Amino acid sequence: MSRLYYKYSDYLEKKYGEKVYKIPLNIASYCPNRDGSKSLRGCIFCAPDGAGHENMSSDIDIESQYEAMSQLLIKKYKAQKYIAYFQSYSNTYIQNDKFIYYMKKAAQLTGCVALAISTRPDCIDQFHIDTLLEIKEKYPVDICIELGLQTSNDNTLKILNRHHTVDDVIKSSGIIKNAGFELCLHIIADLPWDGKEDIINDTKIINQVKADSIKVHSLYIAKETELERMYKRGEVSLLSLDEYIDRVILLLESIDSNIAIQRLVSRVTEDKSVICTWGRSWRKVLIMIEDEMIKRESFQGKNIEKL
Ligand code: SF4
Repeated sequence: MSRLYYKYSDYLEKKYGEKVYKIPLNIASYCPNRDGSKSLRGCIFCAPDGAGHENMSSDIDIESQYEAMSQLLIKKYKAQKYIAYFQSYSNTYIQNDKFIYYMKKAAQLTGCVALAISTRPDCIDQFHIDTLLEIKEKYPVDICIELGLQTSNDNTLKILNRHHTVDDVIKSSGIIKNAGFELCLHIIADLPWDGKEDIINDTKIINQVKADSIKVHSLYIAKETELERMYKRGEVSLLSLDEYIDRVILLLESIDSNIAIQRLVSRVTEDKSVICTWGRSWRKVLIMIEDEMIKRESFQGKNIEKL
């Protein structure tokens, strides 16, 4: 039987010859969608910590953050190789000298094989590309840039208050891939304003821009967000778990089988959310997705010829 889907852990193991672990690093970056450059409200689903639920404080220098996390991973898994992961907010939305400083520091951390930099499509310019190209040339690290596509529907992007378009993501993706960097796109598979046709359009974009990996998120309601307020006012109805599973399978069947899957369901702690993963652990939801795929004889890329 074909594999169900291409797990990112397998992709990393194949590339680096052993298991590789992502270490979230928090720097004092921010977001144009929160500081008034684009908006003051932020995306409706984004928590005040900018989705960095697993992060340490940005007051701690990145060497100490990395050291603390890598020690835990060594103890637990005998880990030796890591990806320095700049996760919270928009990590290219920072002064240029600080960006150079953090990227150089991270590239020299012991055991660091790659830098993963999460940002918005409108926050990547030639300066960031040139800086990262220099770093890649000077240090033995790969570069992966993560962009939030979230949906291929511009109307839904407006409801989410993203303040960028689908076209912005396509253009930035092209710049990233042309520079020879890896590209990871984020998708929210159960946006209530999207239909199944939008999931198919998501997959067309993912395939077209040749994303190396994707993260699929389930919509959760984080505390202190606009989405929480909308939900409490009765303006949002969430999709059921069955519908989520159905959409994730539809998405997987329609993307290239060489795209690695970093995540198939959101991971957020109960204390940070009002509603999350249908009252189940993310592991349980993942098992349910995999069981349903087996039942349907489904696998990643199954329908790609039909697109
Ligand atoms: S999700 Fe990203 S782009 Fe949106 S408000 Fe949060 S940090 Fe900014």
